[in-house]
Amino acid sequence: MPIHILPPEIASQIAAGEVVERPASAVKELLENALDAHARAVTIAIAQAGRQLIEVRDDGHGIPADEVPLAVTRHATSKLASAADLFRIATLGFRGEALASIASVSRLTLTSRTAAAETGTRILVDGGHAAPPEKVAAPVGTTVRVENLFYNVPARLKFLKKEVTERRAINTLVARYALAYPQVRFKLQHDGKPSLQTSGNGDRRAILAALYGADVARQMLEVQAEEEGLRLTGFISPTGLTRSNRREMTFFVNGRWVQDLPLNRAILQAYHTLLMVGRFPLTVLFLDVPPESVDVNVHPTKAEVRFREHDRVFSFVQRAVRRAILAYAPVPAGGAAQLWTASGGASGSAAAWTASSSSGTLTDWEAGHAPAAASAPDAAASSAAEQASFGGIPILRLVGQVGATYLIAEGPDGLYLIDQHAAHERALFEKLMAQVRTQNIPAQALLSPVSVTLPPHQSDLLNEQLPVLQRLGFEVVPFGPNTFQVRAMPSLFGGQDPAQALRALVEDFEGDETPLGEEIEARVAARVCKRMAVKGGQVLTPAEQEALLRSLEACESPRTCPHGRPTMLHLSVDMLERQFGRRGAR
Ligand code: ADP
Ligand code: MG
Repeated sequence: MPIHILPPEIASQIAAGEVVERPASAVKELLENALDAHARAVTIAIAQAGRQLIEVRDDGHGIPADEVPLAVTRHATSKLASAADLFRIATLGFRGEALASIASVSRLTLTSRTAAAETGTRILVDGGHAAPPEKVAAPVGTTVRVENLFYNVPARLKFLKKEVTERRAINTLVARYALAYPQVRFKLQHDGKPSLQTSGNGDRRAILAALYGADVARQMLEVQAEEEGLRLTGFISPTGLTRSNRREMTFFVNGRWVQDLPLNRAILQAYHTLLMVGRFPLTVLFLDVPPESVDVNVHPTKAEVRFREHDRVFSFVQRAVRRAILAYAPVPAGGAAQLWTASGGASGSAAAWTASSSSGTLTDWEAGHAPAAASAPDAAASSAAEQASFGGIPILRLVGQVGATYLIAEGPDGLYLIDQHAAHERALFEKLMAQVRTQNIPAQALLSPVSVTLPPHQSDLLNEQLPVLQRLGFEVVPFGPNTFQVRAMPSLFGGQDPAQALRALVEDFEGDETPLGEEIEARVAARVCKRMAVKGGQVLTPAEQEALLRSLEACESPRTCPHGRPTMLHLSVDMLERQFGRRGAR
């Protein structure tokens, strides 16, 4: 075939593929247009998960009659005048191709009227072919109807997911924008049935409640931080409220929903060692930065951004989130049925529950804590010690060891049952990380170095991790094919079998997805400490028990192990008194 210029319809369809991948992406573009037009109310009607109909109606400033044909023309926009504008974008749209793209793969009708115009204007574009605009009666604002999406791109239709999946994608999207723009009234309906509605009164927590249920909304911690042009607001979940994936980590930058992995990583680092491995927080965060300090033109769907001062933004976000987590006072213990409560912030209790979500979206929340007590008068009764003690624990008096697995101790505010393994893990971890931070890891050279031979795939894994082990105080060197020699270990682990330790570590690497850049040291350290910590079932001498208790007291986050499980259960004086009927139920 000779080289030839593609007919415009085909070129548009190719371009459309980048912007409109599925019904939810069309909804996103239309929503963004409505928000750019300063709408106060946006109504979205969907039929058949968007395949049959997507209609977005707004009460924004509308489009002047003579510009209506341009609105559906490719590379036509009112939001950008010069190339320089591209680097200080304050609107959600700017590419001028969304409407044209959608119109090339559907039957699109746009009706619009400005406040100054007496009538509205309507234009119909079918598969990219525009009919002449006509005058119609219409309210001020803009309505875009998209019918039969992808009818002329059968290949795309085939790739659409099941209706429930596409519907969920739309719900998630609208929910996120509703949270980002609480002063806008959103209304979403599917096949004539209302699905989500917000009041537009600016109350974000109320929207959270509509989306995730009142209990979750009440538990969410507010984030508010500001620093030299950077502003972070929004909500994060306490450590006891987690999900099994990152999908509920939502980030908006200058009002734009972005999928920014580094930012998510900053958040995860803020939670570091407070969440169980494989658990992720729910976050809804809004970052505002000067428009010229962020490049939004790096992705066709504008889902990624690039910061000019990436490191500064990263550390700002991390610090702000960390502060909010640490400021959190744990939810006090619940009713009589729940005798022992995990005293850490992590999900310790067996209770798992599902938030009743009125919209049917975003369900499947689990929380370790029974959250019901948060607003009960009980809250006031929870001991001051418990409120204040998210960080440290009080000085404890050792009572003894039970079942060769737990230590019992007494504090000013009741009884503590401590898991010796988890506690030792935490203590070792904090000591090791402190040494790593100060770059001063006392290492103990082995009198006779130990050789370990590993299967080839494990030896590859270990080779990759050698520098990290080195930084943690392990001197391990390649010593022939698939063989390594352990020459030194951190003194912290003195007396342990080096060969066994190394084998166990490599097995752990195997079970792991590639650790993320900056987290890697802490993760490897957490694993090493898990291997080196005393186990359940190990009898400890009174001196060893005492030493363990002291080192736990010295920890910064003594209530969870580095993997986020609780190290201790706390039975407060208050609860004991109530349980024994010494004090009337309140
Ligand atoms: P972009 O948003 O990138 O400019 P679009 O194709 O989405 O490109 O829209 C083209 C133009 O149509 C916009 O620049 C805007 O002027 C106008 N427009 C689209 N939707 C609306 C709306 N809901 N209200 C007012 N104007 C709109
Ligand atoms: Mg747009």
